Amino acid sequence: MALLPASIRVIVRDWLNANHVLLLDGDDNVLIDSGYVTHADTTLRLVREQLAGRPLPRLINSHCHADHMGGNAAVQRVFGCTLSVPAGEANLIERWDTQALWIDWAGQRAERFAFDAVIRSGDRLRMGGLAWTVLDAPGHDMGAVMFWNADQRILIAGDALWQRGFGVVLPGPGWRERLAAARDTLLRIRALAPAHVIPGHGAVFGDVDTAIATSLARVEGFENDEARLARHAVKVMFSFALMDLGSLDEDSLPDYLATVPVYGEYDQAFLGLGFTGLAEWLVAELLRAGALSRRAGKIVAAWRLRVQSRRRMTDEPGPASRTLRASGAGRRPSVQKKSRASR
Ligand SMILES: [Zn+2]
Repeated sequence: MALLPASIRVIVRDWLNANHVLLLDGDDNVLIDSGYVTHADTTLRLVREQLAGRPLPRLINSHCHADHMGGNAAVQRVFGCTLSVPAGEANLIERWDTQALWIDWAGQRAERFAFDAVIRSGDRLRMGGLAWTVLDAPGHDMGAVMFWNADQRILIAGDALWQRGFGVVLPGPGWRERLAAARDTLLRIRALAPAHVIPGHGAVFGDVDTAIATSLARVEGFENDEARLARHAVKVMFSFALMDLGSLDEDSLPDYLATVPVYGEYDQAFLGLGFTGLAEWLVAELLRAGALSRRAGKIVAAWRLRVQSRRRMTDEPGPASRTLRASGAGRRPSVQKKSRASR
């Protein structure tokens, strides 16, 4: 069983909040990714617990989607840290491009922030007492980066690779380039042969070949089928928004979809259902996938129900369940110092 170095603390969150990777080195501590804006208080508490009184001078984003950067402003305020973002995201952040950042356009939220520096492919960073190289990770986000430590073969992958998949790739102009980039990023990760991947969501894992094969198969399924990519993107965007909202009156779903630009755009271009038809299709698809449930005229994000039933079953009064209640997080935040798998 291979271990991650003790200087790397992975705070595993859920699908609304990206994982936080804290790299500890005396007073020079670094946090990668800050979670979603509405759970910033939980993020601050979890990070503070791991820092245990040490300062946090540096915050870095793997990419600038709302689940990775939504807590930036709060973290900057509390810790007074500098923020570095990938060079490819800098312009979007400066302009606060709510379409390219998938904020208003996709019904997501984030607090606006300013950054101090950019990082780009080839940059060398010292984090957690280890040497890291910044690598491009385009596909899901064309400006995304990942962080590679060659000595211990550790990859901090962001949304370029999870244990079972990777971040959604959008349809629309440039979709073939984005899919090709996602494939290329996966192949470059395979060539690195990491011993540990610290993903943007979900547990740290070591069986990289299986994870890459799963993701490459997914890429293949989308190639030459932009409409399939669009249907997938609509489901991902709505599932994410529902995690944020918690629940919605099912009757109001067509009106909700009409207020968020992504749905009208993709429906017109790919699905042709209209908002009522799109609402029916979405509910049916996400019920089938187990991503939502119906409760008294409402649709509810399924992970919230799972959290509630686990609370009832365990009824734990301890600090962990307080964290759970306060955050509304889909799973109990846990800190991983060890990889669950070894190669
Ligand atoms: Zn993302």
